[in-house]
Amino acid sequence: MQILSSYVCGRWTQGTGATQTLLNPATEEALATASSEGVDLAAALDYARNTGGPALRAMSFAERGALLQGMADALQDARDELLALNMANGGNTRSDAKFDVDGAIATLLAYAEIGAALGAGRFLVDGEGIQLGRSPRFHGQHFAVPRHGVAVHINAFNFPAWGLAEKAAAALLAGMPVLSKPATATAMAAHRAMQVIVEAKVLPEGALQMLVGAPRDLPALLGAQDVLAFTGSGDTGERIRALPNIIRHAVRVNVEADSLNAAVLGPEVEHRSDMYELFLKEVLRDITQKAGQKCTAIRRILVPRELMAAVKEDLAEMLGATKVGDPADEETRMGPLASGAQLKDVRAGMERLGAEGKKLLGEASRDGKGFFLSPVLFEIENGKAVHEHEVFGPVASLIPYAENPAAIVARGNGGLVCSVYSEDAAFIEEAVAGIAPWHGRIYLGHPKIELSPGPGTVLPQLAHGGPGRAGGGEELGGRRALSFYLQRVALEGSRPVIQAFGKGGVT
Ligand code: NAP
Repeated sequence: MQILSSYVCGRWTQGTGATQTLLNPATEEALATASSEGVDLAAALDYARNTGGPALRAMSFAERGALLQGMADALQDARDELLALNMANGGNTRSDAKFDVDGAIATLLAYAEIGAALGAGRFLVDGEGIQLGRSPRFHGQHFAVPRHGVAVHINAFNFPAWGLAEKAAAALLAGMPVLSKPATATAMAAHRAMQVIVEAKVLPEGALQMLVGAPRDLPALLGAQDVLAFTGSGDTGERIRALPNIIRHAVRVNVEADSLNAAVLGPEVEHRSDMYELFLKEVLRDITQKAGQKCTAIRRILVPRELMAAVKEDLAEMLGATKVGDPADEETRMGPLASGAQLKDVRAGMERLGAEGKKLLGEASRDGKGFFLSPVLFEIENGKAVHEHEVFGPVASLIPYAENPAAIVARGNGGLVCSVYSEDAAFIEEAVAGIAPWHGRIYLGHPKIELSPGPGTVLPQLAHGGPGRAGGGEELGGRRALSFYLQRVALEGSRPVIQAFGKGGVT
């Protein structure tokens, strides 16, 4: 069985002590073990701060962008191997696995391009210079410079390659070294991605390290120049934020957490119209892709009361036809959940939803090996848990509405994305105004958009994150992503001196 090591301080280090076993969730076969015990976390953090940081800060944005291009090329060369690992260790169908691996490569390439466009500068010039006194000599200008700490990235189990790449792309381009920690249960693809990046020798020493296994007290070791970007459950995010050192040193923390994403079908949409078909297709994809284990997946489906009977019938039929099984079988359209713990959580969530609504479709259990669950659909008229409890699996609820769907959506208390399917301009205007303050992104579905990726796909050009329950964080969004890793500083003084300094930056 493979033993996964951590890559810290310029070498692979095998953990000691208690190990965690990584499984194939379709067969429950043990594939690998991981342990982070004995890995010197403090030394790894210092190695990043003292070796990786200075090397990255000495480079221009264009040079850092070229590093990302090198990482993307290395992952592209290992693409088939990474897909196979996600299929074996993540329960992914090949299409699910591509979503993760190709998403990782595309995001690195998008940030490589941003680096090339930013060019020779090493920091950002923020806005216009300002005359501060009576004479133009007294001048002010904002700059954004790389922090001198380490960026710790803690990722969720559902996107091992993309989670590594999307966070690292922004940090490395900004000039901060990274210590990345994948979720242990599905870490095999992230671990192999790290191996191929190390083997390709595309990064300076200390720019990227990886801790495989339990996080131990990693967040508790961070200080004032460090940042922590976390993706995972709201409960873990809350625990990290409350750590005394995080509070005392005002460590910058970004949390991407739970989200009860909604899809709203407009009141004017007719049964079997192109818009109706698009809505059904995208809801179906979100419930079944990655067995619903996507932070952006649609959990609440808001339907005009008059169309409820039709949607119920059509959606139940489409979901019922989804072939669930081992991703190794080519016929399979939906694989198992990623782990036994995940299946247990989802079953508990289904009990809560079942207590306040009617189950239209889906089975809670299945004989034999593997953490399988077929798609589950509830109908809930007046629920509470449906707006408060994220069931992280192939489970969604239909909710009828008569008016003001935005008010119902807002009961989710903050989400990553909400989708609206309508061509009625007045309805869209009102819905967007009501939904926008509660979300990081709104997806306006339209049948004329060719090859629409749907609401579940996070694009590097657009911000990813959301207020409230979603963690209050923000990642990606093109160049915006850099700001988390940069310190804004206002420089005031003599104009020629400030302008001379500014020549090392880029607007
Ligand atoms: P989790 O249990 O919170 O774990 C997430 C990560 O945090 C893992 O790497 C885990 O390591 C680590 N971790 C656990 N306890 C920790 C602690 N005390 N200190 C530091 N790190 C700790 O979440 P999950 O169940 O894996 O992920 C599912 C959740 O993630 C869902 O709720 C989903 O909504 C959310 N999610 C959000 C987004 C987003 O972008 N908003 C994206 C994906 C998933 P180990 O694996 O080693 O325990």
